[in-house]
Amino acid sequence: MTRRITPEQIKLNNRQLIYEYIYSQKGCNVSQNEISKAFHMSRPTVAGNLSALEKDGLIFRSGLLEADQPGRKSVTWSIAEDYRIALGVEILKHSVKIIAVNLYGHALKCAKFKTEYSNNEKYYGHITGKVKEFISSLEINDPSQKILGIGFALQGLVSEDGSKVIYGEILKCTGLTIDVFTKRLDYPCRFVHEPDGAAVSELWVSPELDSAVYLSMSEHLGGALIHHRKVLNGMHRHSATFEHITACPDGNLCYCGKRGCYETVCSKVALLKGEDPDEFFRRVRNGEGDAPERWRVFLCYLGRLIAHLHLVADTKFILGGHLAPYFTADDIDVLYKHVREMTPFVENNDYILLSKMPSHNITIGAALPYVMKFLEGV
Ligand SMILES: [Zn+2]
Repeated sequence: MTRRITPEQIKLNNRQLIYEYIYSQKGCNVSQNEISKAFHMSRPTVAGNLSALEKDGLIFRSGLLEADQPGRKSVTWSIAEDYRIALGVEILKHSVKIIAVNLYGHALKCAKFKTEYSNNEKYYGHITGKVKEFISSLEINDPSQKILGIGFALQGLVSEDGSKVIYGEILKCTGLTIDVFTKRLDYPCRFVHEPDGAAVSELWVSPELDSAVYLSMSEHLGGALIHHRKVLNGMHRHSATFEHITACPDGNLCYCGKRGCYETVCSKVALLKGEDPDEFFRRVRNGEGDAPERWRVFLCYLGRLIAHLHLVADTKFILGGHLAPYFTADDIDVLYKHVREMTPFVENNDYILLSKMPSHNITIGAALPYVMKFLEGV
């Protein structure tokens, strides 16, 4: 059976193609002529779509180019980057961060404040009040129309539709449902597992990235599996919870109730014990006190974790999170050395990489799915 494409679908497809083309040429003003050539579309078709997109406010006239005929200039077009925005909120035990991003995923504004997490109505009322204040400070017309949605990132596993926390031992919020926010905010909202948000950001800034294991070394250790540019969560939503693999059977107690998980040796809380990271790494690099030895042990465990995971997934490993910016090239070499000692394969040092997006990655990654969905259906 042949599938018929209706004239309406062709029209919609042309509009989407033209919008995506202008979007992809960010920073380069795009002319009508260039679009006609790129898609072999007639000039009237392109002109009609451009004026419709302009009328809807999705694109704007950004400049003039010398046209084919001397003395004539043609209009060039760019995306209205702030046509829609999305928000990401990161909920941590002692603080909250809010960020607004435009259609290119650029942060428009960020706010951070200290507040103790508490799983009760007073806390959620307080946070939604802060979110509303933040939205007012953006000074946008018609926010209910303009804001695509709000992603609430937290340290917990979440259901596929983002409506429920299915495992939230760090914040003690297992079973929490998104209605604590949706009943107070007039926007679509969803929960996001923190490392998934970080992985989404990494994919956004790395168009060439296909598959990887993402290790998020922030307050707590977390991970994400990226396969063909999708984050895999698995049958019970706990794929890539590397933090609970046993590193030392009689080790310290993990928040999950087991002993010696990698969380207890390879997370920021395990390494720093409340110290300031800048100060700790200054001592590491200057060889002061016990800091170099503690960092050596940390790298040893991390190398072992990567060695094991690399036997399961022969792919790239991306080190992200708060600790990632402190890694030096020598530290990465140490990791390769540990992996080589533990695995039979001799490989080039070409698979352990540092995140390209070290800051705001979780918060921006929580907002980006709303932007992506919008861009797919212009
Ligand atoms: Zn654990």
